[in-house]
Amino acid sequence: MALPTCGKALAEGERVGQPLIDKLEPLFKKYGVDGERVAVRLTGCPNGCARPFVGDIGIVGRLPEHYALFIGGDYACTRLNEKVFDRVPFEHLPTALEPMLALYAEGRKEGEGFGDFCARYGIANIRDKVIEQHGEIHKWAA
Ligand code: SF4
Repeated sequence: MALPTCGKALAEGERVGQPLIDKLEPLFKKYGVDGERVAVRLTGCPNGCARPFVGDIGIVGRLPEHYALFIGGDYACTRLNEKVFDRVPFEHLPTALEPMLALYAEGRKEGEGFGDFCARYGIANIRDKVIEQHGEIHKWAA
């Protein structure tokens, strides 16, 4: 729920879900992974009511318009993901995710989910690759 109905919300939750998907969908298409199942879970605070800590991608409100970004869980929610960036401005979430999708498109095995790929490739390795491509992102490294 998050803002405006949850008193614990640190950032927008439900109301930014669709706008975020609208920004991510073209990136999934760009890298030819739009047919893959990817669980993107977003909440307005670290209480994590929508279980953002187990999806392929978890996005957790930290302060208004800023989010922590987690990767490496799985679609079935059987594995915890790991934080790679923290306090990322909302508008930069696609910037952080795009290089990860490019790596996934290039290196995934047949039928491998995004989170499974991240876990196999190495979460720290993925974070380093993103920082290599977008140096300004290092300031949000977790
Ligand atoms: S995750 Fe946080 S903001 Fe969202 S409903 Fe739960 S307590 Fe409220």
